[in-house]
Amino acid sequence: MANILITGGAGYIGSHTCIELLEANHKVIVLDNLSNSSEESLRRVQQLTRKTLTFIEGDIRNSDDLNAIFTNHAIDAVIHFAGLKAVGESQKIPLAYFDNNISGSITLVKAMEKAEVFTLVFSSSATVYDEANISPLNEDMPIGIPSNNYGYTKLIVEQMLEKVALADDRWSIALLRYFNPVGAHKSGLIGEDPQGIPNNLMPYITQVAVGMREKLSIFGNDYETVDGTGVRDYIHVVDLASAHLCALNNRLTYKGCRAWNVGTGNGHSVLQVKNTFEEVNGIPVPFEFAPRRSGDVAISYSDNSRAREELGWEAKYGLNDMLADSWNWQKKNPKGYRD
Ligand code: NAD
Ligand code: UDP
Repeated sequence: MANILITGGAGYIGSHTCIELLEANHKVIVLDNLSNSSEESLRRVQQLTRKTLTFIEGDIRNSDDLNAIFTNHAIDAVIHFAGLKAVGESQKIPLAYFDNNISGSITLVKAMEKAEVFTLVFSSSATVYDEANISPLNEDMPIGIPSNNYGYTKLIVEQMLEKVALADDRWSIALLRYFNPVGAHKSGLIGEDPQGIPNNLMPYITQVAVGMREKLSIFGNDYETVDGTGVRDYIHVVDLASAHLCALNNRLTYKGCRAWNVGTGNGHSVLQVKNTFEEVNGIPVPFEFAPRRSGDVAISYSDNSRAREELGWEAKYGLNDMLADSWNWQKKNPKGYRD
C-alpha cells in the first residue's frame, strides 16, 4: 500500500484510475482545479469502491498547493494527468497550453524533487510519434514535432522528464503513450464528460445517439484504409487505468525514464466504430461524410508488446465492450455530471 498523489484525478482517465488504485488498497490524494471536471466524479468513485480518498482543490502551477500536499501527506508516487487536452483550442490559446501543461509539469517536478518523491507516471500520447512512422507504432520509432500545440506540450514534457531522469538517477518515470481512450466504468456511474461540442469521435457518437446532436460528421472517406475512413487504436478507459497501476508497480522497482504504449494493438476505422456502435447498442447514428480534418493521419495503432512484456499489462476489453460501456454511461447521464 502506497500514498499516491493523482493530479487531474477528477477527470475522465484520472477518475477511472482512482478506482483501480483504491481497489488495490492504495491511499489516494487527488489534486484538481476542476477546470474540466466535477467533484461529483470523485463522490461516485468513493460510492463505487466504498473507500475514501482525499480531494484537494488546487492547481499544479501553484507551488504552495503542491508543497502543502507533500508536507501533509507522505506521498510515495505521483500520477500526473492534470492538463488541458483540446487540440483545436490549443491552436487558439497556445500560451494557456504551455502554461498548464509545460509550466504546470515543471512546477510539479520541482515540488517532487524538493519533497524527495522521485516516482512519476506521466500521461503522454501517441501524438508524439513522427507522422511518417507506419503503424503498428512501437516505442523505438522516431518521435516528431506534433502539428498542434497540445501534442507539442506532450513532446516537451516527455523530453524534459527524460533529461531530468538522466541528470539524477533517483528518478523513476513512466511515460504512458495513450492511443484513443474510450468507454466508461461498467456501472455507468463515471465516464467522459466533455464540455461543449466534443472534439473526439466517441462522445460525438454517443451525443448523436442520445439526440443531443443531429448527425456525426465523418472527417474524410478517401484515406488509404479499409473503407476510406481514418483508423485508430481505441482502448477501454478501464484497461488504460489498469496500465497506470502496472506502470506504478514497475516504477516503484526500477529507476530511469521509460516509455510504454497503451493501446490494444488493433486498428478500427471510423465507419467500423459507427457501424459496430449501432449493432451493439441497437441505436442508429445518422452521419455524413465531411472533408478531412486538418492534422489527422490516416492510420495510427500501437504495438503494445513492450507494455505486455515489461509491465505485465494486457487489454481485457474489445471494441464491443468499449461501445456498450460508452453508451451505458451516456444513456444514464445524458448531461454528464450536471444532472
Ligand atoms: P480531463 O480533462 O478529463 O482530465 C484532466 C483533469 O486535469 C481535469 O479534471 C482538469 O480539471 C484537471 N486540470 C487541468 N489543468 C489543471 C491544473 N493546472 N491544475 C490542476 N488540475 C488541472 O482529461 P483526460 O481525458 O482524463 O486526460 C488526462 C490526461 O491524459 C491529460 O494529460 C491528457 O492530455 C492525457 N491524454 C488524454 C487523451 C484522451 O484522449 N482523453 C489521450 C492522450 C493523452
Ligand atoms: N472523427 C470523425 N468525426 C468526429 C471526430 C473524429 O470522423 O466528429 C475521426 C477523426 O478524423 C479520426 C478518428 O475519428 O480519424 C478519431 O478522432 P479523435 O478526435 O477521437 O482522436 P484522435 O485520434 O484525433 O486523437
